[in-house]
Amino acid sequence: MAQQETGEQIFTGYAVDDDGYIVDTEECEARELAHRERGTSRPITVVGNPVLHHECADVTEFGPELAALVDDMFASQKTAEGVGLAANQIGVGLKVFVYDCPDDEGVRHTGHVVNPVLQELPADRRHLDDSNEGCLSVPTAYAELARPDFAEVHGQDLLGNPIKVRGTGYFARCLQHETDHLYGFLYIDKLSKRDRKDALRQMEEGTPRYPVVAND
Ligand SMILES: [Zn+2]
Repeated sequence: MAQQETGEQIFTGYAVDDDGYIVDTEECEARELAHRERGTSRPITVVGNPVLHHECADVTEFGPELAALVDDMFASQKTAEGVGLAANQIGVGLKVFVYDCPDDEGVRHTGHVVNPVLQELPADRRHLDDSNEGCLSVPTAYAELARPDFAEVHGQDLLGNPIKVRGTGYFARCLQHETDHLYGFLYIDKLSKRDRKDALRQMEEGTPRYPVVAND
């Protein structure tokens, strides 16, 4: 029987490169499409919702529910036109994030990480980049935030296999931003009081272009 063009590609584990890092740059469009076609888009939680301000729980069950969560996260990320999404941004307090993000050479990276842990960088790899950053949970706001331009995250895939992910440029920023989410931190928590206030004002004045969960 012929293989379906879309929607049928089931995750069976990442390919790994010679250095032991996952290959997340191949068949990005097909993989992203398969996830989101199986998934259901959900509204995005915004700053002030308690689920965003507490550390999420470690994932211990690597079954169909986790796979369905990853699918929903890809669907939600697409709806909101995000480059990364953490599970608590759709109201689920589990350590999972997904991403679909270009690196500093414009190469697209697509994947998911369960139970991510950001790795400490050796001093010679710590070059700060102060580009603009935004967050689907702080809709319409942007602020400059200095972060290392390289990041490495260790974790698991949705089958429970140990994985390593690394990235540069905007993708490095994304890996740090999404991991922070799962430990209860938003990027605005890293800003000066003044810049944080300004970001919240931008959010107050803007209108999100995707469904959000209203805070009580
Ligand atoms: Zn965010």
